[in-house]
Amino acid sequence: MQPVAQRPVFEGFQHTWLVPLFYVVAFLAIGVFLYGVIRRILRYRAGRHQPVVPDWPKRLVKAFIEVLSSRKIGRRDPYTGIAHGFVFWAFGFLFLGTCIIALDHDVLGLIAPSLEFWKGDFFLGFSVVMDVSAVLFLVGLGMLIVRRGFFAVARLNYARVDGKPDDRGGYRKEDWWFLLQLFVLGLTGVFLEALRLLHDRPWFEGYSPVGLAVANGLAALGMTPSAAMTWHFWTWWFHAFLALTFIAYLPYAKSVHMLSSWANLVVRDGKAAIVLPPPASDAAMGLSLTPAAEDMTWKELLHLDACTKCGRCHDVCPARNSGAPLSPRDLILDLREAVSGFHGMKRPQTGGSKLPDGSEMPDISLREVASTAESTALISADVLWSCTTCRACVETCPVGIEHVPMIVQMRRTLIDEGTMDNNLSGTLMNFARKGNSFGQSERNRPKWVKEAKVPVKDARKEEVEYLWFVGDFASYDPRAQKVTQALARILTAAGVDFGILYEAERNAGNDVRRVGEEGLFETLAEKNIKAIQSAKFKRVLTTDPHSYNAIKNEYPALGLEVEIEHYTELLNRLAQQNRLPVKHPQDVKVTYHDPCYLGRYNRVFDPPRNLIEHVGATLVEMPRNRENSFCCGAGGGRIWMGDTLYPKKPAENRIHEAKALDGVSHFIVACPKDLAMYSDAVKTAGYEGQMEVSDLIFLVEKAMGLENYGTEEILV
Ligand code: SF4
Ligand code: SF4
Repeated sequence: MQPVAQRPVFEGFQHTWLVPLFYVVAFLAIGVFLYGVIRRILRYRAGRHQPVVPDWPKRLVKAFIEVLSSRKIGRRDPYTGIAHGFVFWAFGFLFLGTCIIALDHDVLGLIAPSLEFWKGDFFLGFSVVMDVSAVLFLVGLGMLIVRRGFFAVARLNYARVDGKPDDRGGYRKEDWWFLLQLFVLGLTGVFLEALRLLHDRPWFEGYSPVGLAVANGLAALGMTPSAAMTWHFWTWWFHAFLALTFIAYLPYAKSVHMLSSWANLVVRDGKAAIVLPPPASDAAMGLSLTPAAEDMTWKELLHLDACTKCGRCHDVCPARNSGAPLSPRDLILDLREAVSGFHGMKRPQTGGSKLPDGSEMPDISLREVASTAESTALISADVLWSCTTCRACVETCPVGIEHVPMIVQMRRTLIDEGTMDNNLSGTLMNFARKGNSFGQSERNRPKWVKEAKVPVKDARKEEVEYLWFVGDFASYDPRAQKVTQALARILTAAGVDFGILYEAERNAGNDVRRVGEEGLFETLAEKNIKAIQSAKFKRVLTTDPHSYNAIKNEYPALGLEVEIEHYTELLNRLAQQNRLPVKHPQDVKVTYHDPCYLGRYNRVFDPPRNLIEHVGATLVEMPRNRENSFCCGAGGGRIWMGDTLYPKKPAENRIHEAKALDGVSHFIVACPKDLAMYSDAVKTAGYEGQMEVSDLIFLVEKAMGLENYGTEEILV
């Protein structure tokens, strides 16, 4: 009969004092680990208050699924997703295996030996799982090492985009140390198993197939069982020392992301950037250009620890792609360095302390930032004004970092200090005086109605089914007015009962808020809310994705809860109800640009695509589509600022992407600002006459044959 499958834990320890020595070192390592974790937690606790909806079971489950699936890591980068998945899962099993041994040997072995279970069939299954995990662990790490060493992945180059000389070489060393430490840990684990098998040759050696193969290899190279025992002893100590060092060092290095990223995913706000948090109650507090840990919220501090420097946000950022001085990753690292000191826990003090590049830590006010061309501010105003608030960074970040609310918070301090572009300050003045970005009289807002060829009800005076919130661009911009008029004709032809607020409408304030002008946003929103509440209607309709976001997501906090639709949603439903008959199918190849505030912000992806199909056009997707769409460069108030921060235009980048598609003649948009941005970009990119930029409304209008109709024909 075979003996029960089992193995001693401290095999080959000839001196009894070695076992207590191991426990002393282990407890020391755990102590250092706990000290580091507690320091981090205390630092978060010292941060300013930031409320989180306390739906903890749901949050925990979501974060758990996100972590286990490595979904965002693998999205658009399956190689890294697979490699990270291998490492993550294998590490989990190996860690669990170590805990099982500790439980069986150190707990049950001491207090209830009869309950020990790490033997027999359980032990055999355990051996197989550990063996396979060790291999997957090494394969995953090997893939990551090859990627880092040979693939020249651009986003793993940490050179800053703002022109400061520091290439952040320290981070690269830290990454390599992290990977190699884990790899050696895995490798020594496999060798330990092999040396043990080579010495003992137990009957169950086949349950560790990889260890057995390595043992046989070592035997073939001439290693004897007694030599294996000696090697086993020293390898064991090396492996144990490395593992304990890893544990002790975990809260102080890149490996902290194994804790902080998970915690960050648990507290992540699914509406980050979609609904902005209110400003800090004390104007002197809050995240600023000279950030200090005590000015930040606990969640902002956690974000800084959670960043793995993966560069996904850096990759997708339209500002970074256009040569502007902003990279969301750089911003997070700048903040991290500012509040923690480089790789340490201490915030560098003003005067005498060093930045990562060795230069002195500055202590400058915002006004100095504005007036100093070669500013040494930690976060420069130019970096912050480069953001289009497109939310691509938030969307892509695998650990749930919320860049946009932090950027807007810092912009608020810039606005308070008056540190802004002249064009922007002029536009904000227009908002304050006239309620729109064009600085035009409110009487001009409904002027487009005169040439709409159809009657447009005044929703202030009569009840309507749809209250159409038109938006600034769709009301005042001459190009966009034509689109607005076309929609009025389509709605009339489809028998939709609609009206507008005429002079009572104001800019919705979406981008005013994202610029950081909170007070002005509230003023605009309150006026709109008053006007909307005084009208009688069933739903709100809007042509403008920016207004859509504000009314849908930000007005509820100010007391207005309404059902709102973007025109693509309404027209799509009308098409399904056969209320948009197609007389002239549009036999053209088109591509569609998802506006940030409609797609990524509010998940309206299918209605515009369904409409394109409805009118008979063929949709060819650009590589970056849906939530991965690429911003036109207008959002977050960028449209009101000068171009000086942007050597290249994001809209041109997008037009080149569309032009590379086979046979596409039309670039379809569903946002009035996009119409302006892309119509210009087609010209500046040199494609005038080769690519037609058109709002989806025009396509529907042509398909319905309404564009040349007079009032009577439409009303028939
Ligand atoms: S919101 Fe867009 S522009 Fe701003 S940092 Fe993120 S990706 Fe860049
Ligand atoms: S912020 Fe997120 S996406 Fe950007 S580098 Fe850090 S972990 Fe990666």
